[in-house]
Amino acid sequence: MFLHPISWPNGKKCAASVTFDIDADSLVRVGKPKDAELRLQPISMGRYGPTVAVPRILETYRRLELTQTFFMPGWVMEHYPETVEAILKGGHEIGHHSWAHEDPMEHSDEIEAELFGRALDTYVQMTGIKPRGYRAPVYSITPAIVNRLIEQDFLYDSSMMADDLPYNVVTKKGSIIEVPPHWGTDDWPPFAHMGELDYIMPVRGPSDGIRAFIEEFDAMYEVGGFWMPVLHPFLTGRLARWRELERHLERIVEQGDVWLTSMQKIAEHAKAQGATLRQEILDTG
Ligand SMILES: [Zn+2]
Repeated sequence: MFLHPISWPNGKKCAASVTFDIDADSLVRVGKPKDAELRLQPISMGRYGPTVAVPRILETYRRLELTQTFFMPGWVMEHYPETVEAILKGGHEIGHHSWAHEDPMEHSDEIEAELFGRALDTYVQMTGIKPRGYRAPVYSITPAIVNRLIEQDFLYDSSMMADDLPYNVVTKKGSIIEVPPHWGTDDWPPFAHMGELDYIMPVRGPSDGIRAFIEEFDAMYEVGGFWMPVLHPFLTGRLARWRELERHLERIVEQGDVWLTSMQKIAEHAKAQGATLRQEILDTG
């Protein structure tokens, strides 16, 4: 079923990692920089993420004894220090997710590098360690960012989509593990609605939206693959949606044959596969 299958530790049949990108109100601030502070509706919708949804999600993880991964822009970390503290207290991983959710394609590489560094400094100040993983805002990774991640010794990226399973991206500068997302397991299409970003979609019902993610899980489970939903607290952390996903996580935990772990653990395991891992040659200049 896979050209380069990966076997998972301790005889687990399949692997999974639930990821949340905590973008909060950085989205509207970067999308409408001239007057964002007047737009209380999208600001409040974003703030719901760290203030209401993240505590709910962390409580589920605590109850199910799970360690998972959150990606946070540096600006969001700085403005929501209690959220950072609560995530770290639960033993979870935080990954680099830009400075303030700016789209890397809309800046020169020089400006992007400066913002990337600013986020990295904030991260190190607040957590005491360097992040091991990165996900680009709107998956908008560029060759310059791939080079920067390799130079900065990042273990993995999670923005590119060239395979179902983690693979190794090889450039002239070195290599980095890619833990690939895709739009079928991202909660923006079913659940987001934000006129300020010209993102107007028919919002799906909770079980309808989450069922699509579960179908993705079922397919991966059958063939021993890897399932990674890319979620946002202000979307999937809403009460009824989270209840649906929480039930699915309860079932997986109960089943006992799924390795449900952090992205760092998945990437470390992928890296340990060595030459048997799919190698993707990328020209990054
Ligand atoms: Zn994001």
